[in-house]
Amino acid sequence: MASIFDRIKAGLSKTAQQIRERLSDVTGAPAPASATPGGAATASPAPAGKPAPRVTEADTLEAVEDALIMADVGLPATTHILAAVKGDRSGGVRDRVKRVMLGILDRTQRPIEIGARPHVVLVVGVNGTGKTTTVGKLARWHQTQGHRVLVCAADTFRAAAVEQVAVWAERANVDIVRAQMGADPAAVTFDAVSAAKARGHDIVLVDTAGRLHTRANLMAELDKIRRVVGREVPGAPQEVLLVLDATVGQNGLSQAREFMAASGANGIVLTKLDGTAKGGVAIAIAHELKLPIRFVGVGESMDDLVPFDATAYVDALFTSPW
Ligand code: GDP
Repeated sequence: MASIFDRIKAGLSKTAQQIRERLSDVTGAPAPASATPGGAATASPAPAGKPAPRVTEADTLEAVEDALIMADVGLPATTHILAAVKGDRSGGVRDRVKRVMLGILDRTQRPIEIGARPHVVLVVGVNGTGKTTTVGKLARWHQTQGHRVLVCAADTFRAAAVEQVAVWAERANVDIVRAQMGADPAAVTFDAVSAAKARGHDIVLVDTAGRLHTRANLMAELDKIRRVVGREVPGAPQEVLLVLDATVGQNGLSQAREFMAASGANGIVLTKLDGTAKGGVAIAIAHELKLPIRFVGVGESMDDLVPFDATAYVDALFTSPW
């Protein structure tokens, strides 16, 4: 299996390609038509006979600004990055931009500590973001880490969601607790956590509803699930992962804020990175939501979930030399 670095790079290829194109005027290296990763070896020299026009630092910064906005880094984070880069005189512009971006991401990253068992993970987010798929992928990932996983299908509002989680659980070969349609999701979650305690599961992954009759209902339901879980296992849920769809980019942030407040989200899974040139949204998330990005989704199959790595991410964004 490819390294985390290579998988993040592949997932970000559309975003990196767009950034290369945006920067091609100042890098002097025309963006290749294909998404082949750049690097010193692939930089094309300026065409013979045509002296490259002089590129000032101001030109470069303007192109960077444009590239970051296009990549959905967002105005607040982009403004912050440019100001910090202008104030930092050590090294070339590219290295300074990378350093500032890494700083934004690193400030929010914290290692996941799996202490008390069971470690309960609520997976929250609106329908269509890839929440259920992410539960399946997380089941697989935790299994590869040697954990005994129990999946809980708590979206009792959507029959299809329960079926879908069941299919993923079967594929990943992990146990599942599921209830009848319309059952109380907090009661199902309680059953799952009790079962995990009795049977010695390390991880409980709870797929929650992404939509109810009203938003207030949804938020009240998430709150109830949290309380029930916390009574069963002190400190649980240890993780509340908010699933965000990278293809939605910046527009997902206001929705994210709402979920954060109601669900106590303490981490992000950014899905569908492979399908978008808006991969810069990870920076906007870290800068504006101040939440760590735990995983990125880079495809539709079970193994297409990669632990987020800030250094790999920033390196993958800028593949051409400048
Ligand atoms: P939910 O409604 O939030 O539970 O969303 P689903 O899990 O049903 O996913 C919605 C669609 O997004 C499905 O077609 C998934 O295959 C697709 N999907 C989920 N994660 C990813 C990802 O990381 N990359 C790609 N390309 N597609 C994804």
